[in-house]
Amino acid sequence: MASIFTKIINKEIPCYKVAETENCLAFLDINPNAEGHTLCIPKKEIDNLFDLDTELYSELMVFSKKVAKALKKAVPCERIAMSVIGLEVPHAHVHLIPINEMKDITFRNKKTFSEREFINITDKIKACF
Ligand code: AMP
Repeated sequence: MASIFTKIINKEIPCYKVAETENCLAFLDINPNAEGHTLCIPKKEIDNLFDLDTELYSELMVFSKKVAKALKKAVPCERIAMSVIGLEVPHAHVHLIPINEMKDITFRNKKTFSEREFINITDKIKACF
């Protein structure tokens, strides 16, 4: 069965898209730790990030770096943290999370945003590339 992220890639379910290349996609996490919490994924459905071939892994990292730079400009924060977990969705992804302190990266303090707020932050990040 296709992963929920493959359904996003195939436009079967919506997302707040931040950036896209031929092989990678970035969109806002729907249950974010912080404003601007973004997921960067390869379009190829592979469960474990470290099972990507080196070329695609490198491409995803370069893509994630570009997204992180735009995110840092768009969201006031101390720095952008990168995290790899994958316990919930079996489709490789990198979390990019604007943080100010250690608790922002714990995945325990979740933030809620309205659809309008998600759209506004998406537009803000897109304008920073
Ligand atoms: P994990 O697999 O543990 O790294 O967590 C998966 C992440 O994907 C969680 O932070 C979820 O909030 C996020 N997530 C799950 N479904 C969606 C979706 N449809 N759109 C955006 N983010 C999602």
